[in-house]
Amino acid sequence: MEPNQNNWLRTNWVEKGDAQRIFVELKFTLRDCNSLPGVVGTCKETFNLYYQETDSEVGRNLRENQYVKIDTIAADESFTQGDLGERKMKLNTEVRIIGPLSRRGFYLAFQDVGACIALVSVKVYYKKCWSIIENLATFPDTVTGSEFSSLVEVQGMCVSDAEEEADNSPKMHCSAEGEWLVPIGKCICKAGFHQKGDACEPCGRGFYKSSSQDLQCSRCPVHSFNDREGSWRCDCEDGYYRALSDPPSVACTRPPSAPQNLVYNINQTTVSLEWSPPADTGGRNDVSYRVICRRCSWEPEECVPCGQNVGYSPAQSGLVDTYVSIMDLLAHANYTFEVEAVNGVSDLSRTQRLFAAVSIATGQAAPSQVSEVIKEKVQQRSIQLSWQEPQQPNGVITEYEIKYYEKDQKDKIYSTVRSKSTSATVNNLKPSTAYVFQIRAFTQAGYGTFGPRLEITTKEEATGKVSSAAIVSSEQNPVIIIAVVAVAGTIILVFMVFGFIIGRRHCGYSKADQEGDEELYFQFKFPGTKTYIDPETYEDPSRAVHQFAKELDASCIKIERVIGAGEFGEVCSGRLKLPGKRDMSVAIKTLKVGYTEKQRREFLCEASIMGQFDHPNVVHLEGVVTRGKPVMIVIEYMENGSLDAFLRKHDGQFTVIQLVGMLRGIAAGMRYLADMGYVHRDLAARNVLVNSNLVCKVSDFGLSRVIDDDPEAVYTTSGGKIPVRWTAPEAIQYRKFTSASDVWSYGIVMWEVMSYGERPYWDMSNQDVIKAIEEGYRLPAPMDCPAGLHQLMLDCWQKDRAERPKFDQIVGILDKMIRNPNTLKTPVGTCTRPISPLLDQSTPDFTAFRSVGEWLEAIKMERYRDNFTAAGYSSLESVARMSIEDVMSLGITLVGHQKKIMSSIQTMRAQMLHLHGTGVQV
Ligand code: AMP
Repeated sequence: MEPNQNNWLRTNWVEKGDAQRIFVELKFTLRDCNSLPGVVGTCKETFNLYYQETDSEVGRNLRENQYVKIDTIAADESFTQGDLGERKMKLNTEVRIIGPLSRRGFYLAFQDVGACIALVSVKVYYKKCWSIIENLATFPDTVTGSEFSSLVEVQGMCVSDAEEEADNSPKMHCSAEGEWLVPIGKCICKAGFHQKGDACEPCGRGFYKSSSQDLQCSRCPVHSFNDREGSWRCDCEDGYYRALSDPPSVACTRPPSAPQNLVYNINQTTVSLEWSPPADTGGRNDVSYRVICRRCSWEPEECVPCGQNVGYSPAQSGLVDTYVSIMDLLAHANYTFEVEAVNGVSDLSRTQRLFAAVSIATGQAAPSQVSEVIKEKVQQRSIQLSWQEPQQPNGVITEYEIKYYEKDQKDKIYSTVRSKSTSATVNNLKPSTAYVFQIRAFTQAGYGTFGPRLEITTKEEATGKVSSAAIVSSEQNPVIIIAVVAVAGTIILVFMVFGFIIGRRHCGYSKADQEGDEELYFQFKFPGTKTYIDPETYEDPSRAVHQFAKELDASCIKIERVIGAGEFGEVCSGRLKLPGKRDMSVAIKTLKVGYTEKQRREFLCEASIMGQFDHPNVVHLEGVVTRGKPVMIVIEYMENGSLDAFLRKHDGQFTVIQLVGMLRGIAAGMRYLADMGYVHRDLAARNVLVNSNLVCKVSDFGLSRVIDDDPEAVYTTSGGKIPVRWTAPEAIQYRKFTSASDVWSYGIVMWEVMSYGERPYWDMSNQDVIKAIEEGYRLPAPMDCPAGLHQLMLDCWQKDRAERPKFDQIVGILDKMIRNPNTLKTPVGTCTRPISPLLDQSTPDFTAFRSVGEWLEAIKMERYRDNFTAAGYSSLESVARMSIEDVMSLGITLVGHQKKIMSSIQTMRAQMLHLHGTGVQV
């Protein structure tokens, strides 16, 4: 009751240890000043909390100014004297944080300035992340950082028998709240060990793990074993081996058995061997063969290796095929040949070699060539030669024959000279004349073959004239050049005439003929099919426009009003009156003034494309005005504008048959475009126009421009802008645009139509859409959508583009539905057809959810959790019974969300029906 109270209470010294941030939890009761009579002005409902940091105890002296104030603490709940005199004590809990602390310890102090307070408890603590094992790494107890937002990075230690993954050492982060966050990197069990829980265990006997990269221990491969635990490899059984290049995972193998059926053939001094592969390859597929040649004396049989002089074809060892020829053997000699099969482990084996062998005696053979000839002396009329004995004389050489002739002599009449030794002189030659010499040896077995030609020119006669040799080169022979040119010219002429005929016959475009455009003559086409021609292939784009579009006289066009804005200028409606024809409504796209040449080109490009098409479901081009200003593209008028806006405007107003009719039209238009070889790339409801008879026509043509001016298109990682929600995954990922990717977009258009212009994937981000599609998610059936139509959508969204239906098939399916309207009567969720596997993959399995909250989270609608709880929808069964009115009554006002929730409920109902075989009554 006295004023200016100043009462202090101080704790004893608290050593802070490792802590950097200290939590102080206070529990206290505090009496309401109003309940105390006569204390106005002196009573307080707060008290102050202070601290002082010191390195040691400082005794009992207390100087107020040494204390730092932490906070003024007020009670959340004070208590009063109850009516009946009993007090209802209310315990308050307040937590304050101090830090970062820098001294060894601290005091806490409480200042009471006149409150009626009972301090019940003071808890002083700090937080740490408790030691854990994560990714086979141990992280020790870690005290949290000094700042509220700081994370403490902690390096993990691999558990025993584990090692750090290369360049990926384990780390974790201890948060200020004492929680481990963001594990990075990991340890992996060493070779010979595998992971079991948080530890590495040795591989059992008979098992091995060769590398830390392998996850599991594997059983020892065939013909190997181990009887130790923790092995990184298995040992080979006796007689089996592992080649150096064999990984530990392959079976141990052994050398092959001997080749079989060895046969031979002798031709003078050449022996050919042939054999069959061994019966046992030793378990390997790298069998090759080697031949060992030995020459043996007749009696007693003693053999020596054949040496270098023998030739092998194709080779002596490393033979893959089962034959070899051995050449240049000695005549009349005895040989043995061993053929051995070898494989990758033959050299490791210590067992006896296995081979097939034959013994052969060679026949009589003529001597080999005389190849090393030397000109000893060259005179005006004679030449002296010497030479070496041939390498294989194959007998005793009794004579050599020297053959020679004048080099430039036409009929090559030659003369011979014989010699018993290895030299000879040839006389009676002409001076200054080139002669060609060849020599051969003679034995009992006959003549050998002549050696290589040797050219020698005799010396000039001292008084003789030098004869000049005229060199005629055929390289620049004019006759040859003329002949080549003539032949080539004839070929080109034939092709030109032929091409001209083909062009005239098969070019689908009569306009080309009229205007004599030779560019088209080389567009080879199949008769009867019209093919789309990319206007970009024209060097001069205005030629392309006039190729495909009629030039209109501006005076025939009357602009009435502006109906929209295009990329290049206004889009107007108006009338077109051509001479001799009734006037008609048209849309007129104009090119704004001040355009660049590039813009004009791109603007007219759409006309060049559209002008090639003629189909009731493709917007029709009436013509262009390029010779006046403004430049205009005149198109048939589509009274109801673009399909997406049209459907949104008439939400829920059409019958299913009418919607399917629209889809059929779009599919027919797309079938026509696909047959023409045109890939649209931007098929979406906003690019389909609707006329007064509800006929839908595909529009918005162009090349890259179409996508560039589409507000839905965004840049993706593959480069270029793409309307992600409408585009097939392969087109997003690697720009694979095909008619099959147009089919995907068509599936999205189906969904847009059946949901009256709802935005595909609602408000999900483009990134989430890409991720969800990649993970198999597909749009659920829109409300009241017949099951067959949703199935068709899912088929269009097959990941594998080859699996998607073709436009031709889509038209067929839709035609069938229109002819049998009964098939359109069962919306998804009320049919009894079993759920298709496709649906199973792509929609969440609702029967797996345990709570309404989980389900809402899965469909990204968790924001309405409270709405469901408040309205008493606590079980999925009760949710499955909800109608659209029930959903609306929860206060969910966004139409897109209502539809999303409702279609999910329908799928859930269908799945429950499928699971339990009973319907949910709605
Ligand atoms: P575009 O530049 O083709 O996207 O056209 C812009 C807008 O003009 C479209 O969204 C339509 O609302 C309108 N439009 C384009 N062509 C026609 C047409 N043939 N008939 C009626 N409205 C059209």
